[in-house]
Amino acid sequence: MSASVPSPQTLIDSFGRAITYVRLSVTDRCDLRCIYCMAEDMTFLPRSEVLSIEELVLLGKTLCELGVTKLRITGGEPLIRKGIIELVQQLGKLPLEELCLTTNGTHLAQHAQALKDAGVDRINISLDTLNPERFKQLTRFGDIDQVFAGIKAAQVAGFQHTKLNCVALKHYNADEAVDLVKFALNEGLDISFIEEMPLGRIDGHGRAAEFVSSAELRDQISQHFSLKPDDVTTGGPSRYWKAGGYSSRIGFISPHSENFCSSCNRVRVTATGKLILCLGQENSADLRAAMRNNPQPESALRSALLNAIQYKPEKHDFNLNDEPKILRFMSMTGG
Ligand code: SAM
Ligand code: SF4
Repeated sequence: MSASVPSPQTLIDSFGRAITYVRLSVTDRCDLRCIYCMAEDMTFLPRSEVLSIEELVLLGKTLCELGVTKLRITGGEPLIRKGIIELVQQLGKLPLEELCLTTNGTHLAQHAQALKDAGVDRINISLDTLNPERFKQLTRFGDIDQVFAGIKAAQVAGFQHTKLNCVALKHYNADEAVDLVKFALNEGLDISFIEEMPLGRIDGHGRAAEFVSSAELRDQISQHFSLKPDDVTTGGPSRYWKAGGYSSRIGFISPHSENFCSSCNRVRVTATGKLILCLGQENSADLRAAMRNNPQPESALRSALLNAIQYKPEKHDFNLNDEPKILRFMSMTGG
């Protein structure tokens, strides 16, 4: 008699990595146009192509059943998605270890308390500079005061370990690394510096010319603070350090200089429901089709996820000097 092989119940890829963290993009739209993320002229998707709130909730629930413990809501700018609070309220009821959100902060002042009440555990806020003019240049027209108001509102609402995300570009903001760290430490915020990734074709700057490594930034920062590596892991790609006398964490996300693929525990879902198995590769699966074209969307979604995870690539191979291999913008993929 042959023993039946139990079907897998959790998302484990063919390299044995357990996928427990999913970044869920809830819109491809944004109220800013950061120069590293978007082209000046963007065409956004028709609404019918974007997952509905109900589909996003079903997806969250199914992922949770398959062993996902951490969801990050992102975009585009998640806080301009219609129904975002309702979505967060639904996802907040799932038995997750962490529900997180990444935002540019422009609409956070209005929503911080509602997000906290709905069960969001942690927020990342993008901030690449402290200078209002530079902020305008980097985002093409943004108002930095809205972001400062958002940071304040997150603090008032009681969020802990709020993290600033800063994409470092050599000729735009790399000289501000120390000031950004001082700001974060004084405000009790964590901060991560991100090496720019070659996602999508942008017009204004060469990605290779703007490259600044995490090590260079760490060197700058360590001239002002004594940095000690911190073992903490938040389940993401950041490697953390601490400055003597402060509790804040200083992280570095280094897709080029310190490859982190072997410990990758995450996948992304685009606003159209495409499961992106690796940020730097094209392997994907259409979860929207699984939900929309089947009489039993729940089981179809589950099978699609379990099947797709076997195709997660071993690693990304970003090359800053070539034409971008991945033509999806980060705003499409969900950063
Ligand atoms: N709009 C929200 C925000 O800006 O935080 C969420 C979406 S945004 C795509 C998520 C993160 O991706 C941001 O921290 C942003 O700085 C980062 N990002 C965008 N394009 C990038 C790129 N080409 N390389 C590295 N990080 C990028
Ligand atoms: Fe918008 Fe975020 Fe991309 Fe900036 S990084 S353009 S805020 S989606």
